[in-house]
Amino acid sequence: MKIAILGAGISGCVCASQLVRAGHEVTVIEKGRGVGGRMATRRMEGARIDHGAQFFTTRDQRLNKLNQIWLQEGQVVPWYDQVPGRTDLPTDMRYRGRIGITGPAKSLTKSCDLALNFFADRVVREQKWKIYERDGENRVIHADHLVITIPSVQMLELLNRSSLDLGKEAMSGLGKIRHTRCLALLGILDRPSRLLHPGAVTHPANHIDWLSDNQVKGISDRPALTLHASAEFSDHNWETPVEEWAPNLIASAQEVLGAEVVSYVSHRWGFAKPVQTFGATHYHQPEIGLTLAGDGFGGERVERAAISGMEAAAAINKENP
Ligand SMILES: Cc1cc2nc3c(=O)[nH]c(=O)nc-3n(C[C@H](O)[C@H](O)[C@H](O)COP(=O)(O)OP(=O)(O)OC[C@H]3O[C@@H](n4cnc5c(N)ncnc54)[C@H](O)[C@@H]3O)c2cc1C
Repeated sequence: MKIAILGAGISGCVCASQLVRAGHEVTVIEKGRGVGGRMATRRMEGARIDHGAQFFTTRDQRLNKLNQIWLQEGQVVPWYDQVPGRTDLPTDMRYRGRIGITGPAKSLTKSCDLALNFFADRVVREQKWKIYERDGENRVIHADHLVITIPSVQMLELLNRSSLDLGKEAMSGLGKIRHTRCLALLGILDRPSRLLHPGAVTHPANHIDWLSDNQVKGISDRPALTLHASAEFSDHNWETPVEEWAPNLIASAQEVLGAEVVSYVSHRWGFAKPVQTFGATHYHQPEIGLTLAGDGFGGERVERAAISGMEAAAAINKENP
């Protein structure tokens, strides 16, 4: 069967790899230049910086099995399971990408067709699905089955643009999904920071949820910071120009890091952590050949988003053995 998957985040990529393994012909459609979604790594002035998800855990045996492949391929390495002096933190192993958190997504999609820089504007169900690109090359992709894994707000906008109503229950479940937002800063440091392994601290100062040095983390040749502001601070300053909200956070970060930030850019993550989910790991409507997945279904974090994609693929494979 020909299957199109919208969104190359971890849920879409896990779903794609499972469907390819079952013999389907899969195209992953992604508006960005590469795969990974919120598992994002960026180059900046010679530094390499993870700026969305920082690590993942593998409490679920199914993800653990996939992770063994990524470890063998050298895409992923164990990062840390304990931070000295922080007995309050869980002791599960956190894994990071060897050269950035996008490693697993790259591994999962190596046998799929990728349609990158493709913003899905509309989807139309006639005999089959047609997925229309907005602007660009105006590509149209045809598929027997469609899997949508983009964040719920964007999913609803797409359904709306496509005049597609999934019925009262599903539409209200989609409407209920809520994510926190996160303002992030990525910056270059003038010297190595004073952080020790693992090179990351949680809640080191007011309004900062996460602060790390990507060099100590092991992915960057140059000392470079990732800073995630708290959800409350992010909401409060969402529309504020970065020059107004960044200086105080940078001053706090510099104190913790013992280094100066010589340049920085900001990123606004509109969907960080789901605080209200759909109520099931995926939504599957075989009558019209449609499946929905993502962390708005599976729940918080990479691990649950991946399981959502896996269970979506299992539902499709069950109908089409
Ligand atoms: C700042 C931040 C820090 C985080 N830290 C961690 C962490 O340390 N550990 C952890 O486990 N989790 C963390 N998370 C959560 C984790 O990143 C997510 O739960 C998970 O990656 C979600 O995967 P997904 O496949 O559901 O969605 P996404 O990764 O968002 O994938 C959806 C994809 O759809 C694409 N898309 C959207 N609209 C369209 C369109 N119209 N056409 C084509 N493509 C489209 C997007 O570009 C995106 O690539 C963090 C998230 C953020 C934002």
